[in-house]
Amino acid sequence: MIHQLPALKFDLDALAPVISKQTLEFHYGKHHQAYVNNLNNLIKETKFENSTLETIVKEADGGIFNNAAQIWNHTFYFEAFSKNGGGEPSGKIAALIADNFGSFADFKEKFAKAAVTQFGSGWAWLVVKADGKLDIIQTSNAACPIKDGLKPLLTCDVWEHAYYLDYQNRRPDYVEAFWKIVDWKVVENRL
Ligand code: MN
Repeated sequence: MIHQLPALKFDLDALAPVISKQTLEFHYGKHHQAYVNNLNNLIKETKFENSTLETIVKEADGGIFNNAAQIWNHTFYFEAFSKNGGGEPSGKIAALIADNFGSFADFKEKFAKAAVTQFGSGWAWLVVKADGKLDIIQTSNAACPIKDGLKPLLTCDVWEHAYYLDYQNRRPDYVEAFWKIVDWKVVENRL
């Protein structure tokens, strides 16, 4: 099967100034697209030729895994954004965050620390563990929590390509601004 770059649900200029149109042109239009193109080339005449993206992420390794996981991670990252995002979560997700982290402020601080301190390229994640508890984890490079049986709810891409055009080396500023575009309804629907 041919994997496709999923459409964004917002215009390329919708997330500015948190994430500029120029960053999205590169991050979505070039990087995300390249992972799709690479995967389609790599799986030709392999056992993953007709596999779903999720199956490839769970079962492959090496270059096939890296490109498949980066497609999955980026789609998941971009899906959680809205120009009307930000603020605090409500409903079930708000209650779970309070139960697991003490308060929304405590959760934000812990998640931001994971994003800022991830050494080199990678991701910070809010995940649901097998026991139903929430956790915050870091992954390196393309690593994706679904490979470890975790259920992701939210992610922040901390590869430099995600923020360098807008924030240069100031990753903490990017992570602080990130909260302004998170659509908590999307996060809640992932529960
Ligand atoms: Mn990225």
